[in-house]
Amino acid sequence: MKITFIKPNIGRMEHSLYVDEGRMEPLMLAVLAGMTPPDVECVLYDDRMESIPFDEPTDLAAITVETYTARRAYEIAAEYRLRGVPVILGGMHITLLPEEASLHADSIFLGDAETVWADVVDDARHGRLKPRYEGPPGVGQIGRVLPRRDLFKGKGYLPLTLMQYVRGCRFACSFCAVSQYFDRKHYVRAIDDVLREIEAQKRKFIFFIDDNIASDQKALAEFCRALIPMNLHWVSQASLDVTRNLPLMKLLERSGNWGNVTGFETITPESLRDARKSPNIPRFSKYKEEVRILREHGMQSWAAFTLGYDHDTKESIEATVDFALESRFTLAAYNILMPYPNTPLYRKLEKEGRLLYHGKWWLHPKYRFNSAAFVPALMSPDALTDACHAARTRFNTIPSLVHRFSDVKTHLRSLSRIGAFWKYTLLFKKEIPKKHGMRFGLQ
Ligand code: SF4
Repeated sequence: MKITFIKPNIGRMEHSLYVDEGRMEPLMLAVLAGMTPPDVECVLYDDRMESIPFDEPTDLAAITVETYTARRAYEIAAEYRLRGVPVILGGMHITLLPEEASLHADSIFLGDAETVWADVVDDARHGRLKPRYEGPPGVGQIGRVLPRRDLFKGKGYLPLTLMQYVRGCRFACSFCAVSQYFDRKHYVRAIDDVLREIEAQKRKFIFFIDDNIASDQKALAEFCRALIPMNLHWVSQASLDVTRNLPLMKLLERSGNWGNVTGFETITPESLRDARKSPNIPRFSKYKEEVRILREHGMQSWAAFTLGYDHDTKESIEATVDFALESRFTLAAYNILMPYPNTPLYRKLEKEGRLLYHGKWWLHPKYRFNSAAFVPALMSPDALTDACHAARTRFNTIPSLVHRFSDVKTHLRSLSRIGAFWKYTLLFKKEIPKKHGMRFGLQ
């Protein structure tokens, strides 16, 4: 038996294919391959950089789907089904919208696949794939199974090993699909299992792709203590409230944490309240203290902003860029607020009749990457799209990069930190114009 695992691309540029030069390892597919019995052949195709050989014989196509890749994932599924190959779809988007997904596959997987994957493989082997499987979200972390990282060879992924310690998040931000998927809970993996996985691979620069590694601060402190002797450099995603725990900040620094993706979201207090961004709300004073603490601990932060709240204007978005430049963040993402399916934000905008693209921007042939998918309160959708694009452009000019770089507390701490700053900021700068306005899907 043979299983073909697929990571779909978002789509294509207007006049050419899009190759994602900042692509990272599709960890979850390697986890599933690692859990597949050894007599089953596993292959991985990454649509972000290679053509999928649809005519190559296989017994099951297993496709991971995010909201951004749903349109392309359904196209890939159709190609396989046309050739009589059964298709199973999994991933967060499938759990959020099972009815939509089931129209495009022989089988769908809701929740996290690990606990039930053996049944899926066995059913596929005997030609009795069920239309729907369900695994509890967060439960059944990868345990002692090692991901099949050999499947990543030759795919040109960024030189970062992806791993996971915590799934889910205890907060309930209104726009967040993670919060919806995990029902505001987090799940912590056994530290021994993570250490064993770290020891099994050579590279010592790790991206823990946790939704929020700081969701459980006690568990994070324990994890940091275990990481100290491992002599790693690592990055992750962490909510801003971690800066209020100074002993934990010290432990993060000692364990080799170089920085994290952190959702600052907005510098407007009213918008923070609208977003229900509780980790950012107490003591809000335009984040001065939080940024100081991050810099004191050497964090090369990737600040994530969401723009398009009901209080946002062109001027407030420009002020957000001023703040990010003053803070000398390594990277900043200026994401338009996206109504992900089934989130509180989606339901609110739907109720108010403000959704565009018939409420299904991820499938709509006219939707373009990084465009507003709803009507903002104080701007037109196009004005919001343009303001966000202008923010990305301004933050990534060469003078802005040089200004951000000149920070002895973070980027200039060591030669390897300097190297990381330039490698990732230049890559990011190059990807922005390529992605802007991309079509979803290839057809
Ligand atoms: S803190 Fe981050 S992961 Fe947690 S609910 Fe908010 S946006 Fe989602």
